[in-house]
Amino acid sequence: MSDKFDFNLNLRNLFSNTPRNFSDTEILYKNKRKTTYSKFFQKVNGLASGLSEIGVKQGDTVAVIDWDTDKYMEAYYAVPMMGAILHTVNIRYPPELIYYTMNHAEDKYVIVRDEFVPILEKNRQLFDFIKGWVVYSDDSETVSTSLGPNYQYNDIVKNEKYDFPDLDENTVATIFYTSGTTGLPKGVTFTHKNLFMHTLALANGINFAPINVGRTDNFLILVPMFHVHSWGIPYMALMNGNRYVLPGKYDVGTILELVKNENIKFSAMVPSILYMILSSPNLEEYREHLKGWKVVIGGAALPRGLALKAKSFGITTIGAYGLSETAPLLTIAIYNDALKKADEETKFNYSITTGIPVPMVNLRVIDKDMKDVPADGKSIGEIVVHSPWLTSGYFKDPQKTEELWRGGWLHTGDLAVIHQNGYISIVDREKDAVKSGGEFIPSLVLENAISELKGVGEVAVIGKPHEKWGERPVAFIVRSEPIKDGDVYDHLNKFMDVGRIQKWWIPDEIVFIDSMPKTSTGKADKKELRKLLK
Ligand code: AMP
Repeated sequence: MSDKFDFNLNLRNLFSNTPRNFSDTEILYKNKRKTTYSKFFQKVNGLASGLSEIGVKQGDTVAVIDWDTDKYMEAYYAVPMMGAILHTVNIRYPPELIYYTMNHAEDKYVIVRDEFVPILEKNRQLFDFIKGWVVYSDDSETVSTSLGPNYQYNDIVKNEKYDFPDLDENTVATIFYTSGTTGLPKGVTFTHKNLFMHTLALANGINFAPINVGRTDNFLILVPMFHVHSWGIPYMALMNGNRYVLPGKYDVGTILELVKNENIKFSAMVPSILYMILSSPNLEEYREHLKGWKVVIGGAALPRGLALKAKSFGITTIGAYGLSETAPLLTIAIYNDALKKADEETKFNYSITTGIPVPMVNLRVIDKDMKDVPADGKSIGEIVVHSPWLTSGYFKDPQKTEELWRGGWLHTGDLAVIHQNGYISIVDREKDAVKSGGEFIPSLVLENAISELKGVGEVAVIGKPHEKWGERPVAFIVRSEPIKDGDVYDHLNKFMDVGRIQKWWIPDEIVFIDSMPKTSTGKADKKELRKLLK
């Protein structure tokens, strides 16, 4: 530290008062384990001491392979605060990609839950770069494994205080890999300062109507801890003192029971998880407990049909937007001043858009020459951003980093319009855009319209090559009730009549499928859908 007035924006300094201020606030792992913030931070100290004793040094990368558990949460704090780098491994990847990313990230130590041990053992010879495996189980004291050298989690955690260093704020804290929908996954890293600033902005962003998340709201976050730090919510919650419930492996029955028994008031998830929850056959039994649940939906657009269904159960949903590369939060669909006098219907319509930028996010929607498109709700451009928590680039990939940051702005690859009142609506991803007759068909607008038809469970629109028009849209639908393609066309014609969609956007084909193919982060996998085109 160069000067007495300098203050490092690192995780140690962000959480210095948390264990004392919220000493009795609980952290739960399903109905299996329960602790308080003060005991949790003792464990964080104990884990850092244990990791240091087995050889973890500043700058080493420590991987975690687990569902969303209290042990994972301990690593979220202990690993970066000791100056090591936390690699949150995507456990939804096939084994080859798990190996690829661990090798690429240069992992040195691994904390792993027993059920993932067998796949690692099978490919033991590939992991000769790992210096130590820390294994644990929910159900037994010890885990026997042929991975080596190995240590039992409970044995290494010491009952002592760790002297966390005052790290330079630009020290790398975390690494994880993008979903890899095109080509190999890319590694993104985040520094302590990135996480510090993101935590502050997120706490601010969810603190407004219509969700007004506050200190007394119990949290159940359904964004995997391996993906973009669970949207940064584990850090934000412990800064603000929220009771925090960890669900383990996602299972709708467990989720609904936790919502009921733990009086959950705030959650975040991708739309497909909310869809699964709202499709539960015994949802009615939980009606009274779902009332007042506030849910942020991100990672993909919030379909209007899904938001309406949630509303019918008294659940408030709002949209939010971000990317792996942006840590992730960029925008959230809270109400701004322009909506103060708006009627409820208008407010609802804006609450399911992409939203408005949170503090410190400098966001533009630009044309090909990097000029801002007019804020008229019609002109489409690419979202580019600047903020204090964006990744500086892809790990060991200078060429892709340069593309990402061309012109000095982080390019999201998302196409959007900006409305006069400041709200943004993403209409497509550049990669997924349907181009027909030289014109662009916004697939997300079309999906949104189709989602409102009763009987549509999930929907995704993609472009099919067409001799005359270049591409024509095809809609893939998972039905929740028996409907026919004629119903979809009748429904879309009504939208056309009121000008919500244009005639030539109406899909040439409607394909009913039994289930929607999903990416490792639970979004509709358009690459897989393209393979289904005849
Ligand atoms: P990932 O990096 O896997 O989290 O994916 C980020 C991408 O998800 C973005 O570039 C968008 O294309 C998409 N996305 C995230 N949030 C939204 C949203 N609210 N509306 C539409 N697309 C979204």
